[in-house]
Amino acid sequence: MTQTKTTLKSIGEFGLIKEISRLTRHSSSVIKGIGDDCAVLNWKKNHCLLLTTDMLRENVHFKSNTPPRLIGYKAMACSLSDIAAMGALPVAAVVSLGISPNKKIAFAKEVYRGMFSLAQKFHFNLVGGDTVRSDKLIINVTLIGKAERSRIVYRCGAKPGDMIFVSGPLGCSFPTQKHLTFMPRLEESQYLIKNYDPTSMIDISDGLVGDLGHIMEESRVGAKLFEPFIPRNERATLSEALYDGEDFELLLTLPRKSGVKLLHAKDKIGKSFFYIGDVTTQKDRLILVTTSGKIQHVKRTGYTHF
Ligand code: ADP
Ligand code: MG
Repeated sequence: MTQTKTTLKSIGEFGLIKEISRLTRHSSSVIKGIGDDCAVLNWKKNHCLLLTTDMLRENVHFKSNTPPRLIGYKAMACSLSDIAAMGALPVAAVVSLGISPNKKIAFAKEVYRGMFSLAQKFHFNLVGGDTVRSDKLIINVTLIGKAERSRIVYRCGAKPGDMIFVSGPLGCSFPTQKHLTFMPRLEESQYLIKNYDPTSMIDISDGLVGDLGHIMEESRVGAKLFEPFIPRNERATLSEALYDGEDFELLLTLPRKSGVKLLHAKDKIGKSFFYIGDVTTQKDRLILVTTSGKIQHVKRTGYTHF
């Protein structure tokens, strides 16, 4: 296959990311580059800086008639979700805007009010950005976070026997508008790293199967899910809970001993986690134990942009 003639479509979004990753060289200040929810950089003795960026585009991530405050909210919440997925806290954001000069001033201000509501709630600052003319609205949020080095949770630490948990119900995020209104799971993530010892974590943006696939790949393990344990949003079918994107819940693994402790947690945050399955030794293999006890092989696909 000659790369000069072949289009990106043939390798897909993740194929492109792999190609970029192969071209990348890091200095020793980079602890983690491409391949997790955030990049991790050396900072102070026991602390790291984390960096994540997310770009939202009209008619892909939100409809043209979406209220501007929700567009801004979602743009910021997506990046916060990646910070939460590493066990980190946000520090500062820069926001780039591609916007049409024909948009109302009030519209643009509402977009920012949506973002400021999260900056206020989670105590971080919006410190800059860039603006370009664009027919379609585009918002790119870049967020810096911080975390204690020893408490950062990557996608790569899941071990066979670990229990798999999710922080809330899944599926139908688009029809229910959850993708515009979800609360990034920063409190839950802080609770986990302070009280438990998660071995891997990711936020569900590409769908449960897709994102569990990222943990499996990075951790070189397999997984078994139990159909009756997978929490679903009210209108969601099993297939929607498995494959729909943009739920922005945390997906994590815990060693069995702490998993059992979380199962019995009595506090409100602890009770918001659902046990959905186990990590297995069968690398790359994802199976589903159905409600009737049948074992099904699950096709490992998730949302990709091309
Ligand atoms: P998430 O859904 O958690 O935001 P993505 O699936 O978008 O993560 O990205 C996966 C990894 O690939 C991340 O480490 C991200 O920084 C990296 N990545 C994505 N697109 C690019 C790109 N165009 N250039 C370099 N790295 C990229
Ligand atoms: Mg993510």
